[in-house]
Parts: sequence; C-alpha cells; structure tokens
Amino acid sequence: MDQNHKPEEQSDLFAGFREPYKSFATDAIHVGQEPEQWKSMAVVPPISLSTTFKQFGPGNHAGYEYSRSGNPTRDCLEKAVAAVDGAKYCIAVASGLAATVTITHMLKVGDGILCMDDVYGGTNRYFQKIASQTGTEVSFADFTKPELLKAALKPNTKLVWIETPTNPTMKVVDIKACSDLAHEFNKDIVVVVDNTFMSAYFQRPLAFGADICMYSATKYMNGHSDVVMGLASTNRDDLFERLSFLQNALGCVPSPFDCFLCNRGLKTLHLRMECHFKNGMAAAKFLEADPGWRKSFSQACPLTPSMK
Ligand SMILES: *Cc1c(COP(=O)(O)O)cnc(C)c1O
Repeated sequence: MDQNHKPEEQSDLFAGFREPYKSFATDAIHVGQEPEQWKSMAVVPPISLSTTFKQFGPGNHAGYEYSRSGNPTRDCLEKAVAAVDGAKYCIAVASGLAATVTITHMLKVGDGILCMDDVYGGTNRYFQKIASQTGTEVSFADFTKPELLKAALKPNTKLVWIETPTNPTMKVVDIKACSDLAHEFNKDIVVVVDNTFMSAYFQRPLAFGADICMYSATKYMNGHSDVVMGLASTNRDDLFERLSFLQNALGCVPSPFDCFLCNRGLKTLHLRMECHFKNGMAAAKFLEADPGWRKSFSQACPLTPSMK
C-alpha cells in the first residue's frame, strides 16, 4: 500500500499483512501507458482493433504484424500487470481457464501435474476431464501441509499447481514452503500460483519462489464484472518465451477492448482491495461478536480448528 495514501487509523487493521510496495498505485496507473509511445500522446492507451499492421516490406514491421501474435492495447496491459506482480513478463489470455490451458500446454505426454487438492471447480474439471485424457498425469495433495506435497512429488512431476486462498473454501497454502520443496526435489518443476483471490495488491507469489503467477482477471484484477480475462506473469525468460509462443500458437487471446477495460480496472485495484479488506474485516468482526451466529454457523458448517 502507498504509505502516503494510508490513513493513520487503519494501521492496526493491516497488522500482520505485508505492505505492498510503495509505488503500487503509480505503477498500476502508468507502467506500459507512456504517452510518448503514441503519436497522439494519449495518456490512456488507444483501443487498437486492427487485426493486421502495415509492413515496410515483407517481415519488416514496426513491432506488430497480426493481432493474435501481438496487439498494442494488449501489450500495455501486459506491461502494467508484470510491473505490479514484480515480474519481467506477463501474457494476457481470454479467460482464467485459458491461462490454465495455455500453461498446461507447456507439458508433454507423460508429464505430471501435482495440484492442490482444493482448487477452483473449473481448474479441477480441466485437469481431471481434459488434461488427464490427453496424456498428462494428474494427481492431488493437500498443500496446506507441505509435507504432503513433498510426499506426492514424482520423477515425472513437471508442474505444481497451487491456489491460495482457495476458491471457495479459502484454504491457505504456504507458497514459499511449497515452492522450495518442489524446487529442491527437482529445480525444473514449474510452480504456478493461482493468485486470483488475493490479487497482485495483497500477494505477489513470484517473490515467494513461484515461477508463474496466474489470475482469473475476471475477478479482482479487472474488478468491474464486465470482462472475462486471464493473466500469467513470470520472471523467467525461458517460461515467457514458451508462454508467448503458446499464446499465439493456441490462440486463446483476449480482445483489445477487453484489454483496455482490464487495464482501466487495474488502475483502481489498490483502492478496491483496501475497501474489500475493510468491509470483509468489519463483517467478520460483527459475526465473531455475535454468539447466535456462531452457534448456527457451527451447526451448519464444519469448522476449521482456527475458527472454533
Ligand atoms: C474464476 C476462477 C478461475 C477461472 O477463471 P475464468 O476467468 O472464469 O476462466 C480460476 N481460478 C480461480 C481461483 C477463479 O476464481
């Protein structure tokens, strides 16, 4: 969080949480949006709908050829997301699941995915009903206990899929402990974190050793319930090369208009997440103080030890 922006009386509320880096809001608003890149000096990236771009000669172009391979509006969004994730690179795709599919296509037949045993339903469905039918070995473990992840790693494990907090049961996984265990077992294992629920504002998995941070930007990153979009950030040159190849080769690309909207949504991420945090905390404190609610909730729902 931007220190200058943070009202004094909130400091207790955020105790126990790592502070987002100070220029978060500035980066979300400005990185990739430099007006000097456009002849018009527009401060907001134009929506570039053109599917093809004029070339000086065959193969001799100004950076863009065909909009699936590269699009100016998409580039602006990708640069801004990479910045707030503390990443060198980002790819934007047509949905969160498209990001999952694109990442999974890095694997070859016989490679294994080890996945947190409680993940978003669509991720589970894709791994169980599609990836596992097309030659990928899929297994699950409860990563809330890192030793269970360690015990489930196999020689063919190539991808470790973490989601934290999980949707919808809010299980929390120690990203650093799990990434370290996976990389100690085999440094070539790619650790992915689905960071949809915390967003880049509250959690930056790459700083904890993950190789790829992915999102359903449909949720908080865009934040206005008007775009379906996926994102994947990385610091690794080799993974970016592979992912951008797959972004083009599989073709799960987002529309320039959606890229514009998501980029606009990202500019208010810090304000929205702070507000969600305060509202969520107020609701939790209210419910916690109400014995009647506690009784009916404990009858209706199995409680985790920390909630008892
Ligand atoms: C919604 C969601 C997805 C899937 O994203 P879509 O944009 O709906 O394809 C993946 N992971 C999590 C945690 C989600 O909440």
